[in-house]
Amino acid sequence: MRQTHHHEAAHAVFALWSGLRVTDLRIGREELNGVMIEGVCAFVHGGVSDLALAEIYLAGPAVESMMDHNWNYNEINEDYLQAGLLLENVVEDITAVVAKVKQRVNSLFPEIDRLAKALLEHKRLDEHEIMQIARMPAWRLSK
Ligand SMILES: [Zn+2]
Repeated sequence: MRQTHHHEAAHAVFALWSGLRVTDLRIGREELNGVMIEGVCAFVHGGVSDLALAEIYLAGPAVESMMDHNWNYNEINEDYLQAGLLLENVVEDITAVVAKVKQRVNSLFPEIDRLAKALLEHKRLDEHEIMQIARMPAWRLSK
């Protein structure tokens, strides 16, 4: 079973962890730019490195693959595609970045899981709700 709520929550927590604003989080099938998708995490992209941005993209597939060992979804491939484009001039091997992302998913799992469960219940969360529910460690939000 797809863990779309965890997928989108992981994007959100990684974006917050990088000091970015997350403005909208929602799950449910919808069409975006002609493609059917199952969730959205909207965040403000400015002011972080391509590596940090790639890690935000990779966080979604990372948490899903850790929770569902039969995963294989087109939407995930889109995340990998975006991360690959960002990383092609930055790192030689994307698997090392994926491993680092999975480690961080583990350490941030309480925040991801809390946000995912609220998202599953409410289907959509705004910026204020995301901040309240994620309750990121204060040392991550000081910059
Ligand atoms: Zn995604």
